Amino acid sequence: MSFIAIDLDGTLLNGQNEISEENKKAIQYAQDRGFEVVISTGRAYFDVQTICEKAGISPFVIGTNGATIHSKSGKCISSITITKDRIESILQWLDERNYYYEVFTDKAIYTLKKGREHFHNEIKSLKSADLNTDMKELVEVAERQFDQFGYVLVENYHDILKQEEEFYNILACSFDKKKLEEAWNQFKKFDELMVVSSADHNIEMTSKRASKGMALEKLAFLMNGSLDQAMAIGDSNNDLSMFQKVGYSVAMGNAKDVIKAVCTTTTLKNDENGVAYAIYRYLENFVVQK
Ligand code: CA
Repeated sequence: MSFIAIDLDGTLLNGQNEISEENKKAIQYAQDRGFEVVISTGRAYFDVQTICEKAGISPFVIGTNGATIHSKSGKCISSITITKDRIESILQWLDERNYYYEVFTDKAIYTLKKGREHFHNEIKSLKSADLNTDMKELVEVAERQFDQFGYVLVENYHDILKQEEEFYNILACSFDKKKLEEAWNQFKKFDELMVVSSADHNIEMTSKRASKGMALEKLAFLMNGSLDQAMAIGDSNNDLSMFQKVGYSVAMGNAKDVIKAVCTTTTLKNDENGVAYAIYRYLENFVVQK
């Protein structure tokens, strides 16, 4: 048994936040040939489930950067939480410094009303400014973030802490590089936290025991499979952990050069069905090797 792990944003999803017909066909083609397809993303499971249902695919899902693993039928196989005390100290720190943040649990994505408004205004003012191409792309990525399914808007972070739910992940955003770096350095200090990034304007924190790579390894172990011949496709920093675990790593054409440099190969961009292209090329090579 072999695995094909695929990131969502900037990878399987195109600029319209959709799974194209070509990518869907390629996934089904691989599944028909006995490959286990795994969606591996920073998004919450319930959000991914909605996207997969719409596309008509049923893969394994590694959610919230490896904090959860769900089977093809939607059963939770594994979940790794951050303690409430730690969540509280992180939120307090972010709140005092006016960061926009989202908290991912097993039930919802919590965010503050005032934070959302502030972030919307920041995007609006950036859009009216004369931006370079990189920044324009970043603003588009940030806007698409709001398409996530499962948001619950609350007044303050104490409303989040009141919830009797499993806390998986915190995402913090800023277009101010220095401000974001400050948060990165602050949370890197905590031994029990894993800090990654899926775009230039965000950092994402899970338990140290959760990453896309560790979750993929766990899934392979539970399924008595191996990752030696597995493929992983992605476009950013939070995909590095899974690139390290597989035999065949693929960077998207739209990924940064530092990501492309560590991968076995590069495929087309997300708007050019890069996933489908990578899957067919991988299957051809795989068959030849056999
Ligand atoms: Ca991505």
